[in-house]
Amino acid sequence: MLLPLPPGDHLRPGSYCAPPISPYFHDVATRVASWRRQLIWRVGMKRSIAVVGTGRMGSALARALLAEGHPTTVWNRTKEKAEPLALLGATIAPSVLEAVTAAEIIIVNVSDYAATAAILRDDAVAAVIRGTLIVDLTSGTPQGAREAAEWCAGRGASYLDGAIMATPDFIGTDAGTIVVSGQVEAFQDNAAVFRALGGNVQHVGQDPGRANALDSALLALMWGALFGALHAIAVSQTEGIELGELGRQWTATAPVVDGLVADLIKRANAGRFASDEETLSSISVHYGAFQHLLELMDARGIDRSVVDGYGSIFQRAIAAGQLRGDFAALSQFLGKAA
Ligand code: NAP
Repeated sequence: MLLPLPPGDHLRPGSYCAPPISPYFHDVATRVASWRRQLIWRVGMKRSIAVVGTGRMGSALARALLAEGHPTTVWNRTKEKAEPLALLGATIAPSVLEAVTAAEIIIVNVSDYAATAAILRDDAVAAVIRGTLIVDLTSGTPQGAREAAEWCAGRGASYLDGAIMATPDFIGTDAGTIVVSGQVEAFQDNAAVFRALGGNVQHVGQDPGRANALDSALLALMWGALFGALHAIAVSQTEGIELGELGRQWTATAPVVDGLVADLIKRANAGRFASDEETLSSISVHYGAFQHLLELMDARGIDRSVVDGYGSIFQRAIAAGQLRGDFAALSQFLGKAA
């Protein structure tokens, strides 16, 4: 008996099955895969998962899956790092090939895409991934993700790329954030698996490169804050400010900075660069205060290499006549310096 399709489900050639030998076999294979998904959806069966790479993050991912009862096989190049997971119920695979052969979903988390390629782009492994879903949660570039998706499609595997916006201690918690891009159906069909990884796992687009693009944007924001913190620590230490005091004052100031960032994004989105009645602060005000920071850093011998980069953006904008513009006007001057 055929089960009715889940809401919104439909046959999706090429989603779980490889481009076929003939249109007939393609159709049959696609239907079988679709019925199987319906069965899993209906009876709540859990899919077998392989976690490839159990470093700090991969181990956290495996622990989260095991905690939710997902049958999980793990493989790590250095076997000892995978072994603690056996106590939590994981099966330790002696080789990548055995790990992926046992799995319907293959979650990869290694250092970079070169490592992913070294692991998966092996003839024997490539031969058994047809019909599986590969989820690469390794950090990388948008282009790297697009190439990986193409490589998987050529071998009959579905592909999702994810960027983890959290440290390992957040994985499996409500605040665990991961952005995922690629075939939305593959994401929706495996909602329970993604939910196990964190309370805030979101699909952000069909383009497999989108998660990594968003990741890079957010990393730029994060490193702005972290390098800023390094400078704040150096200034405080050379001026005899106790670091606990710095921490307390930052807690008080952070909402102001959050507001400035939100305003900057809003104005850049609208292209509102000229100062107006809603401008919070102009380039001239920021540039003036920035001179005080440079003076202090020079006086105390603090490395200026990062802040000199800020300076050159300020100067390009000012040279273009934007001194009185809203701070958001700087966003037009991030192209390569001439
Ligand atoms: P990690 O603890 O250093 O683990 C790296 C993993 O990659 C290990 O399992 C390592 O295997 C494996 N590996 C590296 N090169 C390999 C190769 N050529 N062949 C096979 N395996 C290889 O790093 P991590 O913190 O777990 O980070 C893993 C990924 O998650 C990275 O892409 C990172 O950017 C991303 N991420 C991490 C965090 C975080 O807070 N840690 C946050 C967001 C995203 P061995 O054990 O054998 O060396």
